[in-house]
Amino acid sequence: MTSAKLVAGNWKMHGTSADLREVQAIADAAHALDGRVEVALCLPATLIHRAAEAVPGFPVGAQDIHMADQGAHTGDVCAAMLHDAGAALTIVGHSERRDAHREDNSCVRAKAEAALRSDLRVILCVGESDGERGSGRAVEVVCGQLDASLPGGEAAAGAVPDSLAIAYEPIWAIGTGKIPTTEDIAEMHRALRQRLLAAYGDAGGQVRILYGGSVKPSNAAEIFAIPDVGGALVGGASLRAADFLPIVEAAAR
Ligand code: PEP
Repeated sequence: MTSAKLVAGNWKMHGTSADLREVQAIADAAHALDGRVEVALCLPATLIHRAAEAVPGFPVGAQDIHMADQGAHTGDVCAAMLHDAGAALTIVGHSERRDAHREDNSCVRAKAEAALRSDLRVILCVGESDGERGSGRAVEVVCGQLDASLPGGEAAAGAVPDSLAIAYEPIWAIGTGKIPTTEDIAEMHRALRQRLLAAYGDAGGQVRILYGGSVKPSNAAEIFAIPDVGGALVGGASLRAADFLPIVEAAAR
């Protein structure tokens, strides 16, 4: 298990072939950092194959998968297809999918297990709403999400800790420029660590817990200095190498 931080970009529904030059620039810079930080980009499905061919060895990922291994699911893409296209990892349970696609914890858990069955590493997202934070229930809600979303059984055996990362992403911090206090991030990561230890024993102590939500070059160093922040999931600031690389470099220090 590496102790290097993981910094993953989530391009969401952005990016066409013209943007492969940004992937190339990010992959080149990540390579030069020589393992001091692990970098990955979760791209739109349409770019995965071309990106994987353009930057061999650099981890290109998906943003979602179907929970089934194959079948009659018009328009969906399964883990094996993404792996075949060159993906090395996938996000599951992003709040935009939990909300817009009504994905509940059991669906997220099934997706995480499907990903691991097809040798895709998993970034599993959890996070509270503004109202839940305001009512003092954030830790309870997020730990409940984690407990119910974590992969188990055969899929998880042997995959934890290396193939699983958790992303704590407060919904109200995504794309808003707002971030929780240092104390609130530390409190949440501490609580999530306890849940991972309860679920997986010692291996749960080594699963990386990323922070996500309005991470930028200007706040990255402060966030990475918080105890048990094992990296970041970055949305808007991952689209351009010029914004993303200072975040990656802050994680490498
Ligand atoms: C995200 O959606 O995963 C995210 C963290 O977005 P942003 O960095 O733009 O807040």
